[in-house]
Amino acid sequence: MLRLKEPLELTMYRVLPENISDFISVYIIHHGDSSCSIVDTGPQVSVSRLTGLVTRLGCRVENLLLTHIHLDHGGGAGGFIKEYGPAKVMVHPRGSKHLANPTKLWQASLEALGPVAEFYQEPLPATETLLYSPEDGEKLHLDGLEVVVLYTPGHASHHMSFWLPSEKTLFSGDSAGMYLERQGKFVPSTPPPFHFDQYLESLDKQARLGPSYIAFPHNTIIEAGDFLKRHRDQIIAWVEAAEEVLEKASNYSGEDKVNLVAEALKSVDDQANALLSDNDTLVKAIMQSSIQGLIDYVVRIKPREERR
Ligand SMILES: [Zn+2]
Repeated sequence: MLRLKEPLELTMYRVLPENISDFISVYIIHHGDSSCSIVDTGPQVSVSRLTGLVTRLGCRVENLLLTHIHLDHGGGAGGFIKEYGPAKVMVHPRGSKHLANPTKLWQASLEALGPVAEFYQEPLPATETLLYSPEDGEKLHLDGLEVVVLYTPGHASHHMSFWLPSEKTLFSGDSAGMYLERQGKFVPSTPPPFHFDQYLESLDKQARLGPSYIAFPHNTIIEAGDFLKRHRDQIIAWVEAAEEVLEKASNYSGEDKVNLVAEALKSVDDQANALLSDNDTLVKAIMQSSIQGLIDYVVRIKPREERR
């Protein structure tokens, strides 16, 4: 487990009750005498658990650092402010307006995730005056703690990661995949619209920092080692496998394409094989949307980019 240097402290908290899933972790960085910031709030459904936790911890939440606005990351930001009180919300400029008015975000989430979006619950609008969009590379100063904002698109166009130089710790959001502790497995998360080139560039940008630790919202902290390199090889293998099978499948139905790509991933990647066989509802939903994103990339996005 990561130990921050005194007087810093980090609390990792699984926001969903354990009988549902251990899928989502939020991170509370304690940076002042009694002040803290939260990396991703998790979804609206768990806002009360999160406000209950920070109250028990006795820290004053100053910032919500959102890696992106997908429901399981920033979906609870508006509700958190409403229930807890004002905190500054750091969000990518492309995500900002969807926090202030989440109607479109909610519709898109229902379409992409169906019952899983219903489970996460509809995000509440976040107070516009509390929203702040840092620039790529901007240094935030949380009391004495420096946090560097990195734009890391690929998983989503509006994705940011947070880098703590003093701790050599990277909060990667979904830009470097998920590392699921119970299963001991890691996989990319590639929902539509997935941009492969951007994803690789973001991985390289993060690898250049030389992180010692990576804190994943799904769902634990690992020693970085050569993880980013292994993950880079993995996503390349995924995309190549999807391209190979989809080349001969242009007449297949949507469902048949999904099955075909799932089998292809299982055959090239033990990690994917294990997670595609996992019965956890949320893991299943994410794997399905990753496959949809790969198909969308190969069939729609890549040909469009190549025509440019
Ligand atoms: Zn996401």
